[in-house]
Amino acid sequence: MDEKKPGELLRESLFSQKKNGWDTVDEATERAIFDYCDGYMDYLDEGKTERTCVEHTVELAKAAGFVPFERGMGLRPGMKIYRVNRGRAVDLAVIGSASLDQGVTICAAHIDNPRLDLKPTPLYEDGELAFLKTHYYGGLRKYQWVTIPLELRGVVAMKDGSVIKVSVGAEEGDPLFTITDLLPHLAAAQSQKKLAEAIPAENLNLLVGSRPLKDDEGADRVKLAVMKLLNERYGITEDDFLSAELEAVPAFDATDIGFDRSLIGAYGHDDRVCGYAAFKALLDLPSTPVRTAVCVLADKEEIGSVGVSGMQSQFFDTFMADLCARQNVPLRACFEKSFCLSTDVTIAYDPDYPEVFEKNNSARINYGVGICKYTGRGGKSGASDAGAETVAYLRRLLDDRKVLWQMCELGKTDVGGGGTVALYMANRNIDTIDAGVPVLSMHAPFETVSKLDCYMCYAACRAVYEG
Ligand code: MN
Ligand code: MN
Repeated sequence: MDEKKPGELLRESLFSQKKNGWDTVDEATERAIFDYCDGYMDYLDEGKTERTCVEHTVELAKAAGFVPFERGMGLRPGMKIYRVNRGRAVDLAVIGSASLDQGVTICAAHIDNPRLDLKPTPLYEDGELAFLKTHYYGGLRKYQWVTIPLELRGVVAMKDGSVIKVSVGAEEGDPLFTITDLLPHLAAAQSQKKLAEAIPAENLNLLVGSRPLKDDEGADRVKLAVMKLLNERYGITEDDFLSAELEAVPAFDATDIGFDRSLIGAYGHDDRVCGYAAFKALLDLPSTPVRTAVCVLADKEEIGSVGVSGMQSQFFDTFMADLCARQNVPLRACFEKSFCLSTDVTIAYDPDYPEVFEKNNSARINYGVGICKYTGRGGKSGASDAGAETVAYLRRLLDDRKVLWQMCELGKTDVGGGGTVALYMANRNIDTIDAGVPVLSMHAPFETVSKLDCYMCYAACRAVYEG
């Protein structure tokens, strides 16, 4: 065998040695990756909206021995608890053996996704077709949401206090909905428009019916026939839409992508891919952790982590304060010693669009979970910018556990950017850093991720919880 040349040895010892993950994992890890992703794909299909995701998460948590945490309830190490925030977000924890004054480990993800919400007065008829008007939620590219099959999920809250669940499209044999677009033959003018302006928001109208009410000569017979069906199925009238939260979401299930099945295509990877990782890592803790492990699945990240169910809400602080009260620990003493992995997806390098990426600092598919020291845009505006010491702590943690990871930015500095819940956790005096799965076509109705990266995000969460 040839001796290695001095330059070669120097390169090995001095240059970064990051490799494609598939070149480094053993067979057992390969199996673990595919098994883990089967579970993740089921999780995606069960919870396409924040409400259904919370429901499904709670179901799985209960089956694993988690109990609802009521204020004043006694805590003991190993205890598994959760608290749901208005059906739209959930915090879960496994109580550690150490006191809460040693801080907690947190993995915080969000479970809301870009989608089309129904407007408060949505139903109308035009051209003898019935439609539901939508108001888009989050940063989506409107042209991607036309001519695809859509489901309708959500709730109608009635004045009597009852809440009616609506789910059309989830069950086999259910009808679906769609938004129409111009045919190329008549789209010459539209095709000349800017991509962002070609589909106006007010054209995002869900086609929901075309059969007029029989033996009737009044106005809006198609709309009336649709309202009659809704009344028969859900007992609602037109005014009940006023207190509803109904979301049109893509009707396709998660699926393997590629001849080699190495990728997953689905709606809602951002950010259920990290939400599932944070949650599953908590479920899979082999023993009582030293520090209490907390999984946060927040709502409203896509519109700025606002509102009562977003990460800026005091809900999280209240949950943590209620835990701390049981051990007579001030919340601020717990927070200042805590560590948070803000688990949110990052942008994967797309070779079709190299012009928006800076190659040395872009996340690559199959190189593991992407760590962002900072997100934001321009001069790091809107970032939390983790301290070098925090990055070093995470480097050691992940390397010790053989978790594959890569450091990345969100594209070229002046091209764009994005934010996560990280700054809201850091505002609480908690050391926080972003980590997540690189995504292709982020915010599209059908996003793509690598199975290896999904698994490494889970492994990173486990490393954090287990310290
Ligand atoms: Mn996200
Ligand atoms: Mn997003």
